[in-house]
Amino acid sequence: MAIPSPVQSAARAPGLVRRARKINRELAALYPDAHTELDFTTPLELLVATILSAQTTDKGVNRITPILFAKYRSAADYAAADRAEVEQIIQPTGFFRAKTTSIIGLGQALCERYGGEVPPRLKDLVTLPGVGRKTANVVLGNAFGVPGITVDTHFGRLARRFGWTTEDDPVKVEQEVGALFPKSEWTMLSHRLIWHGRRVCHARRPACGACGIARLCPSYGIGPTDPVEAAKLVKPGPFS
Ligand code: SF4
Repeated sequence: MAIPSPVQSAARAPGLVRRARKINRELAALYPDAHTELDFTTPLELLVATILSAQTTDKGVNRITPILFAKYRSAADYAAADRAEVEQIIQPTGFFRAKTTSIIGLGQALCERYGGEVPPRLKDLVTLPGVGRKTANVVLGNAFGVPGITVDTHFGRLARRFGWTTEDDPVKVEQEVGALFPKSEWTMLSHRLIWHGRRVCHARRPACGACGIARLCPSYGIGPTDPVEAAKLVKPGPFS
């Protein structure tokens, strides 16, 4: 099993930036359509969908959001929502009581503090119920066009496998990886790593022998390298 060598300082390691950007370019070629796999049409819908996506799949969220979004169209609708009705709709996404508390609280906070609109700033978004840094960056990057790095489980795992960071803390991962790329790449880089993590570079058995960036990856060999065996591990998607 090949383990990537520790990276003491991602920003200073010789050649790291060049190699990281090359991986990003190869991933861009492999996944030209990479995008968030949550369905949404407005910042509010994306914010709610991202809150609902905690501990479940985007596909599961996309199954219930058409019903939810048709019934609750504004922050005021969520603020005034009947708790039992929301719970019933979002139950399949799991942790539905906590998520109901978050999205009703979100509606109330948006109405009380932001005139019912989703604010386009990280410092404001993270003050909203149910909204952490990851959710805020998803919304900034995909609904407002503000560059953001989304450190979910896939992003963190792949960044460590590429040797871009040795950190587990998402904020530190965000900082170290962010230093390797121009801001304009941050949102698409996030999508590409998440797509590759879902399809090929899995947590347990990465499909190294069927991986399009194998020759660039310092962790090549931590999963099966036999092309036939590895091909069976690839999940083609879509996940939405
Ligand atoms: S599948 Fe293997 S070679 Fe490809 S990125 Fe993951 S660890 Fe590296």
